[in-house]
Parts: sequence; structure tokens; C-alpha cells
Amino acid sequence: MTRSSPDPAITEQIEYYRRRAPEYDKWFHRVERYDRGAEENERWFRDIDQVRAALADFGPSGSVLELACGTGLWTELLIRSASRLTAVDASPEMLAINQGRVNSDSVRYVRADLFSWEPDRSYDVVFFGFWLSHIPPERFDSFWTVVERALAKSGRVFFVDSLRDPHSTARDHVLPAPSATTARRRLDNGEEFDVVKVFYDPQILASRLETLGWAIEVESTSRFFLFGHGGRSGTQRSAL
Ligand code: SAM
Repeated sequence: MTRSSPDPAITEQIEYYRRRAPEYDKWFHRVERYDRGAEENERWFRDIDQVRAALADFGPSGSVLELACGTGLWTELLIRSASRLTAVDASPEMLAINQGRVNSDSVRYVRADLFSWEPDRSYDVVFFGFWLSHIPPERFDSFWTVVERALAKSGRVFFVDSLRDPHSTARDHVLPAPSATTARRRLDNGEEFDVVKVFYDPQILASRLETLGWAIEVESTSRFFLFGHGGRSGTQRSAL
């Protein structure tokens, strides 16, 4: 860990994901509490396929940085086209699962709190999946300055995140109000944690990023996800 964060909301969020690591993939695979019935599950997987296709078209090549890499659901895709990848996460449990799944010498794992971490080199691509929504609103701008510092000149960004949908999460999770910035999450054993969860409207997010000097196209799938791709305004990129 680079240094510990004194912010209790961030500490609780890290702790939640550490504890959730062994059960994390149930959300993605729509099993147990996350099973929303055949029709909804099918929509979910269709939406996932759309994001995967967009990521393949984007072409995450060269040196790739993955922030909040989790169990490796995206790492295993990124490493197919990346020449090398740095995967950062605060949870050693997540990193261990990721390493077991991806099993590649081309991946460097870094355990760090992203709110105090600084990139130690520059990357052709920065990727983050389901991370933007977990950044406290007051840290949004500074997060994007870290992304900028991590990127090589003409570097590119791809991210994916949740749209606000009542069926996105577990059956026993309550969808927060549209204006809320936190959500109560429950583990399989019933323990509860509050996490930061900010849902973005794709157009508003793109405009906000534009004011910070980014040219990012933000698209949405039919129901569950938004995804963004682009780079710093005015730089030459071979984006989608
Ligand atoms: N990107 C992965 C995916 O899409 O499957 C995981 C996303 S999960 C919603 C959020 C991830 O952020 C978890 O792996 C968690 O350990 C990590 N995380 C939470 N707080 C963090 C922090 N302050 N610094 C670094 N990683 C953090």
C-alpha cells in the first residue's frame, strides 16, 4: 500500500471489496442473489457482449494500466492485446484471484489505494471497469488528473460502468435515490457496508470530462452499462 487513506468512506469501501473478493464474480455471472431471471440475465449478458465488442474495437494495445482490476474479468481480455499490463487494486484478495485467473508473466500487480497512488511510468492505455462510480464526487477531478499523468502523449482511455438500473445488483440491495452518492451493500453472510456509488448520465459525463480537457465519447448499452473511450482533447488518437 502506498500510504493509508484517512477517509473512512474509502477505508470502508476497501474493506468491503476485500471481504467480497471470493464472491465478487457472482454479480458478473448473475448467480444466486444476482440471478434476476432468464430474461433479465440474457439482457445483461447481451450488454456485456456489447461492451466487450467495443473494447475489442478500441484495441487496448501497447502498455496498459488497469485501475481497480478486481478479480480479472477485464484483465483477461486486456492481456490478449496488451504487450504488458500493470493491474492496480487495494485488495490483496482481489489481486490473488486475478493472478490465478490471468496467469501471465506480462502482468505486474500493484497493491495500492488509488486515492494516494501515483503512476510510476506512462501507459498507452488506461482502463477501469466499474471504478468511476466508486470515486467520491469531490475526488472526481483529481482522479482524472492522475489518469492524465499515467497516460503517454496520445494515450487513450476506456472505461465501463453501471447505469442506474434496479436489476443491476443483488436482489437484496436497495437502489439508491438518483441523487445519492452512496449505496448499502450486503455480503453473502449478511454483513453490510456503505460504498460510494455515483451513477452518471452518459451525455452529462462526457460534457463534464470535456470541461476537464478530455474528448471522451460515452455510450450506453440497452440497459445496464455505460462505456467511454477517448483521450485528452486535441491529441491524435486511433480511437474507435
Ligand atoms: N474492475 C473490476 C471489474 O470490473 O470486475 C473490479 C471492480 S469492483 C466494482 C471495484 C474494485 O475496486 C475492487 O476490486 C476493489 O478492491 C477496488 N478498490 C476499492 N477501493 C479501492 C481503492 N481505494 N484503491 C484501489 N482499489 C480499490
